[in-house]
Amino acid sequence: MSSSIFGPVLSRRFGLSLGVDLVGEGAKKCNYDCLYCELPKAEKVSSIQNAKESSVIADDVKEALQRHTDIDFITLTANGEPTLYPKLFELATLINEFKGSKKLLILSNGSTICDAGVREALGLFDVVKLSLDSALAESFKKIDRPLGINPQKLIGCMKSFRGEYAKTLVLETLFVKGVNDSDEDIKALNDAYKEIRPDRIDLSTIDRPPAYKVERVEEERLRGIASMLDSSLKVSVASRKNENTKVRSFSKDEINYMLRNRPFSFFDIEALYNEESKKLFYSMLASGQIKEQEVAGTKFYWCC
Ligand code: SF4
Repeated sequence: MSSSIFGPVLSRRFGLSLGVDLVGEGAKKCNYDCLYCELPKAEKVSSIQNAKESSVIADDVKEALQRHTDIDFITLTANGEPTLYPKLFELATLINEFKGSKKLLILSNGSTICDAGVREALGLFDVVKLSLDSALAESFKKIDRPLGINPQKLIGCMKSFRGEYAKTLVLETLFVKGVNDSDEDIKALNDAYKEIRPDRIDLSTIDRPPAYKVERVEEERLRGIASMLDSSLKVSVASRKNENTKVRSFSKDEINYMLRNRPFSFFDIEALYNEESKKLFYSMLASGQIKEQEVAGTKFYWCC
């Protein structure tokens, strides 16, 4: 039987991470059929059948940790949706017994958050990342093509989970051009984010060849979307390598003004500031004029 481990991989948002696949080889096991999915299309399922035993996967993780001592995160993911793995609680319990200071992370599409058993298992993770691609029923159906799921119900359950879960909650929204990127979509998402109050919101778009013929949104538009969101939210837009974003020059007053209005992520600084402005920014940081907080591997900066 092959190992459940892949990586370590260097992720832009979560640092050095050891990937744990709960599904294994064969067709993907997912209850969504997202337009942007990079895995080949497969029949939707509501649970993962014939999965490996949790003790077998935990042994693979333990063995890999002995070889890769420098990783930041152990990331539970799947060739599909990891919360459909029926022994998630047992597996997270086993890994927590030996993981030491490494953080346990799960990347979920968020679809099972109304299930009390799943929420109990998610409570064992240091960081939970849930997807929320739309807060409007029509766009949600178009982009995620779910197995009978209503986004308003999901948003309510995500809010309840936030109330129960004191560790780090990250929401991710992936935008597809012409599908979930209208101003109406952004307004509804902003209301949902404010209700759920995650620690971080990741905005992204298609990065790898998708299963269907759909287009990514431009990075400028992603940044425009970020600027439309409530200024109290910590929003991260990860730059794509080689993306042609125009870097700019900012004075000390401009930097102060920007960071008083909303927190900026490390990726914003790297993508938008020219070399001179970066030097100024980091000198302000070193002298304590700018505050810094790391949220699940991504740094945010703001001024008071
Ligand atoms: S939730 Fe993930 S695995 Fe499932 S269809 Fe969407 S992108 Fe693919």
